[in-house]
Amino acid sequence: MNKQTIVIIGGGITGLSAAYYLQKAIREKDLPYQVRLVEASSRVGGKINTLKRDGFIIERGADSMIARKKPGVKLVEELGLKDEMIRNGTGQSYILVQGKLHKMPKGAFMGVPKKIGPFLRSGLVSPTGKIRALFDLVKAKGPEQPDQSLGSFFRRRFGNELVDNEIEPLLSGIYSGDIDEMSLMATFPNFYQLEQKYGSLIKGLKQTVPTPPKTTGKTPGAFFSFKGGLQTIVDKLVEKLDENTILLDSIVDHIEKKDTGYHVLLDSGDVIKAVSVITTTPHQTLPKMFSQFNFLKPFDDVPSSSVANVAMGFDQSAIKQDIDGTGFVVSRNSDFRITACTWTHKKWPSSTPEGKALIRCYVGRPHDQEVVDLPDEELVQLVLNDLNKTMNITAEPEFSVISRWKNIMPQYTVGHIERIEKARQEASEQLPGVYFAGSSFEGVGIPDCIDQAEKAVHQVIDFLQT
Ligand code: FAD
Repeated sequence: MNKQTIVIIGGGITGLSAAYYLQKAIREKDLPYQVRLVEASSRVGGKINTLKRDGFIIERGADSMIARKKPGVKLVEELGLKDEMIRNGTGQSYILVQGKLHKMPKGAFMGVPKKIGPFLRSGLVSPTGKIRALFDLVKAKGPEQPDQSLGSFFRRRFGNELVDNEIEPLLSGIYSGDIDEMSLMATFPNFYQLEQKYGSLIKGLKQTVPTPPKTTGKTPGAFFSFKGGLQTIVDKLVEKLDENTILLDSIVDHIEKKDTGYHVLLDSGDVIKAVSVITTTPHQTLPKMFSQFNFLKPFDDVPSSSVANVAMGFDQSAIKQDIDGTGFVVSRNSDFRITACTWTHKKWPSSTPEGKALIRCYVGRPHDQEVVDLPDEELVQLVLNDLNKTMNITAEPEFSVISRWKNIMPQYTVGHIERIEKARQEASEQLPGVYFAGSSFEGVGIPDCIDQAEKAVHQVIDFLQT
């Protein structure tokens, strides 16, 4: 039987999950289609990239998935990887404010206090800052509005100090973005809903986030990876795909709409004829891919930021003064260029051989992007200098691995949801059978990407069956 082709563009977690769910649906429904996944680089996995060296497991990109988001765990179970899962080691985490490490106060959610006691006892915010933050309990709710920046929302409720010292370091750590430009509704719409319903975020969190029951044993970490690193899920997905599904080293140049569907043109000059297409590449690739269609032009203006991480392996003896915990994030008002640091040997003990330490630090604040391009040696030195302001490391690392991620972190700026909806609406009229998924759209977390992949697959099947 001559099978028609569905093309998936991009072989990151979104593209691979889409290919997996699509082939599963094709098999189950016995549909006359085949899947081709086109990937520009010579490997699949995109921002998931595990390096194994000298007995260490080093994550060059993402290091884990959050366990409470179901699409990730569901896929892991389907793939038969449950026994490979490991949870992160739990321990004290810190925020570095004006050069000093402070324990993350208990009972805070994304830096927003839920319990007043630990907040008042914390040294993160001055007494004046605490009084200002507690205005949240009495301050009138803001007007209903379609979107606003995360920064202006939290600053209005809590004042600048709590935002700059606690909320901003945590949130910008997730999105590598500037919270004064990021969209509240595309990132944490639940905070807006809490304000509208309870008038106060502190009261709202108290009402809606249950206090975990007291347990005698250690609570499992909120994140998971795999014994062999996060790449395990990528390798398993590849193993599950039909032979010849993936086309590596093939850049999609552009896509032409034809009467019978789409022509996907590769930079090699090859053309793949498709009845439906799922794109999973970053938003900035879309205006060129669909250059016949002006409605994707606004994606040219959506910013992306760059980050780099520096993983360094040490002999334990090199760390003279360690800290009891798993890592810290850094506030913007600290004289540091690293933005976060993980003691990977404590967070993921199986990543590091006995007697060794693995420390991973990030650089690349929204207003310090040039740091990402520093030469390797300078970057390692800069990171060591910063680390030595809080620890005492007496020897050079046995090795360092630098991973640069350039213009790759999509910024969900104010108006993001509206922009995405508009593009999708236009696409449904002008590009029927083309669907956009991936981290530029509805969530940067890996489970969000998997969820988007599964939804796009349902849309493709519905489209082809009607
Ligand atoms: P990508 O992984 O970017 O994949 C897109 C693919 O498309 C790439 O392989 C690219 O080569 C390919 N491509 C691009 N253009 C073309 C073209 N023209 N033709 C063909 N192919 C093309 N999330 C978490 O949940 N937990 C974490 O711990 C975490 N940490 C992170 C750390 C870093 C350093 C980074 C960068 C991200 C992190 N994230 C984390 C976010 C998460 O990793 C990503 O959002 C997610 O992996 C994105 O997957 P994706 O498939 O949508 O995109």
